[in-house]
Amino acid sequence: MQLKLLLLFAVSLCLDAVPLSSTRTKKHNKLLLISFDGFRWDYDQDVHTPNMDQLVLEGVKAKYITPPMITMTSPSHFTTITGRWIEDHGVVHNMMFNSTSLLKLTHKNTLKRSEWWDNGALPLWITAQNQGLKTASYFYPGGGANYSGQVVNMSLVEAEGHPDDNETEWRQKIDTVMSWYTEENFDFVTLYYGEPDNVGHKVGPETEERRKIIAQIDRLLGYLRESIQRNNLTDHLNVIITSDHGMTTIKKKPEVKEIKLSEYMNFLTLTHFDILDYGGFGMIRPRKGKVQEVYDKLKNAHPNLTVYKKEEIPEHFHIAKNSRIQDIVLIGDLGFNLNSRIIFYVNKGDHGFSNEEMDMKAIFRAFGPDFRKNFLAEPFDSVSIYPLMCKLLGVAPAPNNGSLSDTQAMLVDDSDPGGHVGRIQTSVGLLIVMMFIAFLH
Ligand SMILES: [Zn+2]
Repeated sequence: MQLKLLLLFAVSLCLDAVPLSSTRTKKHNKLLLISFDGFRWDYDQDVHTPNMDQLVLEGVKAKYITPPMITMTSPSHFTTITGRWIEDHGVVHNMMFNSTSLLKLTHKNTLKRSEWWDNGALPLWITAQNQGLKTASYFYPGGGANYSGQVVNMSLVEAEGHPDDNETEWRQKIDTVMSWYTEENFDFVTLYYGEPDNVGHKVGPETEERRKIIAQIDRLLGYLRESIQRNNLTDHLNVIITSDHGMTTIKKKPEVKEIKLSEYMNFLTLTHFDILDYGGFGMIRPRKGKVQEVYDKLKNAHPNLTVYKKEEIPEHFHIAKNSRIQDIVLIGDLGFNLNSRIIFYVNKGDHGFSNEEMDMKAIFRAFGPDFRKNFLAEPFDSVSIYPLMCKLLGVAPAPNNGSLSDTQAMLVDDSDPGGHVGRIQTSVGLLIVMMFIAFLH
C-alpha cells in the first residue's frame, strides 16, 4: 500500500512538471520596436553600415519580411502592432476616407482620428496595458488613437510638417525613449522614423541621397547601442528593428506608357468616389449601377494594370472582407503609378505595389537578451511580429493572424534551470529516487 502511494506521488510530481513548465516565473525583459518607414530589405547592401553589420553578429537578421498586401505606412504598421490582416483591422489606406460623404484626410491628419483606427482589433499597447504593463508610442502610426475608450499610457504623435531627417532630433528621440525605460519603468515602446521613406519618394531608391540616409540610420543604430549600454539596459531590453514596406523607382515616359485612367473611362459620369494617384494601389466606387461598366472599361485597358471587382479579390490578399474596400480595386505592376485624370504625380519612388514584389519587402533585425546571436532567419510575414512581441513581453496575445512558429527559432533556448527541460529532468530524478525508496521498503 505504502509503495503504491509513494509511486503515485512520484508519478503525479512528474506529470505536474508539464503544465508547470509553461508558466514562466522569470521577469520578462523590456521591448523596443523601432520602425524605419520604407526601409527596403536590401538597402544596407550598397552602403557601408558598420553598426548594422555589428548588430547582425550580436543578434538576428531575417533575409527579409513580407508586409501585408496594400504596402502602405498605416495599413502595414497597424498589421505589425495588431497581428491582424488588413481586412481584420480595417486601416486600409494611409488616407482616411469615406466613399459616401467623399471625405478624404491626409495621413498626418488621421493620426488622432480614433474612428479610422479603432475597428475592434486591439493593438498590442492596449492588450499589454490590460495585463499590467506600461507602454508608450513615439510617433508610431495608430499610437495616438483611442481603442474602446483606452489610450496608450504615453503617446507622442507626429505633427504635420515634422522634419524627417534631422539627425540631432533622431538622437533625442532615443534619449527620451531610454529615459522612459530607466526613469518611468515602461515595458514596451514603439518608435517610428519617417526615413528612408521620405527620401525614397523624393529622389528615388537608387540614388546617392538614399544611400546617405541609410548611413545616417546606421549611425543612429550605433548611438542606440551605446545608449542601451550607458543606461545599463543591455541585459534587460530586447530591440526589434523593422519597416512597413519597400520602395521602387516609378516608371515614366518615354521609357513606358504610363497608366492614366481617364484615357479609358469618364470619371464624371461613372464614378462616385476614387482614391488614386497614390502609388501602386487604388480603389474606385462607381456610381450606382455602373460597377460592371467601369470594370469592363478598365479590365484590359493597360497591360500593366490589374483590375478586380471586390468579390474577385484573391483571398490571400486578406483585404476583401473589409467594408472600406471599394467595389473596384486596382493594382499597378511594379513601378506603374495609378494616375487618375492627369499625370501630376511628382514622386520618383513609391510603394503600394504587390507585396510579392521584392522591392516591396522590408527589413527585420533584432537583438537583446532573448535573441540568439549571429542568427539568419528565413523570410516571414510581418503579421507574425505580433505573437513574437507578445512572447517576449509575456503578454497573452489577443486573437491574431500571426504565427509564433515563424520566429521562435530566433529566440534563445529557454531550457535554463527552472525552465522547461530543467523541471522535467528534476521530476524524473525525483521519480527515480522515490522508486528506489519504495524498492528498499
Ligand atoms: Zn511612403
